[in-house]
Amino acid sequence: MEYKIAVIPGDGIGPDIIEQALLVLHKVGDRFGHTFTCQTVLAGGAAIDATGNCLPQETIDVCKAADAVLLGAVGGPKWDGLPGDQRPERALLGIRKELGLFANLRPAMIFPELADASPLKAEILEGGLDILVVRELTGGIYFGERGTRETDMGPAAYDVEMYSEGEVRRIAKVAFDMAMKRNKHVTSVDKANVLDSSRLWRRVVTEVSKDYPEVKLDHLYVDNAAMQLVRNPRQFDVIVTSNIFGDILSDEASQITGSIGMLPSASLATGNFGMYEPIHGSAPDIAGQDKANPAATILSVGMLLRYTLGLSAEADAVENAVRAVLADNIRTPDLYTGSETLVGTAEMGRRIAEKI
Ligand code: NAD
Repeated sequence: MEYKIAVIPGDGIGPDIIEQALLVLHKVGDRFGHTFTCQTVLAGGAAIDATGNCLPQETIDVCKAADAVLLGAVGGPKWDGLPGDQRPERALLGIRKELGLFANLRPAMIFPELADASPLKAEILEGGLDILVVRELTGGIYFGERGTRETDMGPAAYDVEMYSEGEVRRIAKVAFDMAMKRNKHVTSVDKANVLDSSRLWRRVVTEVSKDYPEVKLDHLYVDNAAMQLVRNPRQFDVIVTSNIFGDILSDEASQITGSIGMLPSASLATGNFGMYEPIHGSAPDIAGQDKANPAATILSVGMLLRYTLGLSAEADAVENAVRAVLADNIRTPDLYTGSETLVGTAEMGRRIAEKI
């Protein structure tokens, strides 16, 4: 088959890790008989330098015409002085909106070889960890009405959390569909003891669950969910939650794994279209030094193959290749503990591609 992929290397370590991810993607193409036609476009700081705009129209057009988008990371100190609405990170909000990416999928998994990297005690993680956080990405307080007003306590500012039934229904369906392919357990996280928007959230998620009789549904308040994630993370399979709660809980879940350079993510639109990227940023402190771990971006390629292109054998091949290289005790500096074979970004990518 032939597929069109829009590629946004971005800034900092972005171009280095994307180069390795494309090496693996093309190796998958050779092995399984697919052609991946990749078109590279600009976003973030690189786009500001070249065009004055962090998200040029050409980038949006190329992404919309592609089957999927692969992104490195954007941002860096060079552009930190720009006003908020002109900063490289604005490109991410713009792209999510333009492409209708309403569902953010963030797996938090622990590879047995890296169990020591977790800040949690070994007995809490015995048997491994595999959580999928499904975060609503285009609604809620980050996109709600906002403003300022005078009060008798001085100037005040407000941001409104609002969810429609339709927004909750579509993200809940994504979560239940994912659970059907996993361990058939959804935990919906809200603050229904306090917030009206959460009460609507809980009611709609419960309604959607009726279409998925095989999936067990629990509800947790967000404060309890934050506690349970460090106390007993193995109780979770799929967690579904709002934009702001998901922002916080998915970062917490990723920290449990202890290795930011290993975690991929997907942002999905209606249908199969999606954008795939590592959860980490552009790591300007190690950019251009051949020190970045490309595994999170390579695993993002795995998610792209699985969720947008429906190629599960190919996706399994990518995940197994990363596992095999870890089992061979090959480590980039972020994972190196002193006794393994230390390699740089390019060598790590080459070794993973070799295992496909
Ligand atoms: P960061 O994730 O870039 O880096 C945090 C720490 O993790 C750094 O010490 C970095 O060296 C390390 N790290 C990150 N990825 C790594 C990898 N693949 N291999 C090895 N080590 C890795 O977060 P930050 O420092 O807060 O942000 C840096 C820039 O990235 C900022 O401009 C920020 O706005 C931007 N950012 C972009 C995205 C994105 O593009 N999606 C996400 C987060 C941050």
